[in-house]
Amino acid sequence: MYDAIVIGAGPAGLQAALTLGRMHRSMLVLDSGAYRNGTVSHMHNVIGDDGTAPDEYRSRARAQLAAYVDVEFRRATAASITGAADDFTVALSDGHRESARRIILATGVADELPDVPGLDELWGQHAFACPFCDGHEFAGSQIGIIGAGPRAGHLLALLGPVVGGITVFSLDAADDDTALLEAAGARVAAGAATAVRSATRGGVIVTAAGVDTEVAGLFVAAGSFRQRAPFAEQLGTRMLASGSIEIDDFGRTSVAGVFAAGDLAHRASMPGPMASVIQSAAAGQLAASGIVQELSV
Ligand SMILES: Cc1cc2nc3c(=O)[nH]c(=O)nc-3n(C[C@H](O)[C@H](O)[C@H](O)COP(=O)(O)OP(=O)(O)OC[C@H]3O[C@@H](n4cnc5c(N)ncnc54)[C@H](O)[C@@H]3O)c2cc1C
Repeated sequence: MYDAIVIGAGPAGLQAALTLGRMHRSMLVLDSGAYRNGTVSHMHNVIGDDGTAPDEYRSRARAQLAAYVDVEFRRATAASITGAADDFTVALSDGHRESARRIILATGVADELPDVPGLDELWGQHAFACPFCDGHEFAGSQIGIIGAGPRAGHLLALLGPVVGGITVFSLDAADDDTALLEAAGARVAAGAATAVRSATRGGVIVTAAGVDTEVAGLFVAAGSFRQRAPFAEQLGTRMLASGSIEIDDFGRTSVAGVFAAGDLAHRASMPGPMASVIQSAAAGQLAASGIVQELSV
C-alpha cells in the first residue's frame, strides 16, 4: 500500500511527486506518455526554463526524482480506480493492480481542434492556442487566427500589442463578426478557412475563396478540450462548467482522498484552468501538501 499514487507525469504530477518524495511519503507515479504539449519543441513563460524543450524538462525532472527513494516511477496506463480513502485500488491496463491511501489525478486534458485538414500536423509547431506561451515568438510578424467568434476577439486583444498584424479566418460563412474584428484592428479574410499546411517559416491558410495566405504562426480560436483520462467520470468528482474537476485550495476534489492538479482541474473561483507549466506544477505542489497534511493527523 503506497501513501499515494500520482496518475500523470506532466508538470503537475512530477512536482507532486517531488513534494511527496521530499516528505518521505511512499508513492507510485504512473505515466502513459500522452502529454498535452507532446508536439511542442520549446515551452515559454516558464522562468528558468524559457525556451526549454518539454521533453528535456520532463527528463530532467524524472532524473531529479530518481534521487528520492520513496518515489517509484512507472511507464504505465491506469485504467480504473476503485475503493475509498485509505484504500484505493488502481488497475493498470497491463493487468497489475496497485493500492494507495490517497490518489492525485494529474492526467491533464486533450485538445480537440476544429476539423480543418492539416491543423493536427501543425499543432504545437506552427499552430497554438495560448498567447502567453507562444505570442512573443511572433513579435513584428503576420499571424493568422482560425475561428471568428468572440474568442477571436479575445485573442486579438491579447496578441494585437505583440505581433505585426493579424488576419482572422472564419471556419464557417455564418461566423460574421467582421465589423467587430476589423474595428479591433484585424484583417478578416474573405471565405472560410478550408485547410492549412506548413510553410518554410510558419503556415499557409487556404480559404474557400481559393486564396492562400502565408503567416508566421497560427492561433486557434475555436478548439475545446476534454479530460484525457476517464477518472473524473468513474469517480463522480464534482465538475465545473469549464469541463474541469472542481478542487479546493489544496487540490481536494469532492471525493474524499482524491486530489487533482494541473490542466484538468481548477477552483470554482477561476473561470477556467490556467493551463501552464508553472500553474500545473504549483497545483501539484499544493495537492501533495494537502495529502501530507491529511496523512499527518
Ligand atoms: C500547443 C501547446 C503549447 C503549449 N505551450 C506552453 C508553453 O509554452 N508554456 C506553458 O507554460 N504551457 C504551455 N502549454 C500548456 C502546458 O502544456 C500544460 O499546461 C501542461 O502540460 C499541463 O500539465 P499537466 O501536468 O496538467 O498535464 P500534462 O502535461 O498533459 O500531463 C498529463 C500526464 O498524465 C498522463 N496520463 C494521462 N492519462 C493517464 C492514464 N490513464 N494513466 C497514466 N498516465 C496518464 C500523461 O501520460 C502525462 O504524463 C502548451 C499547451 C499546448 C497544447
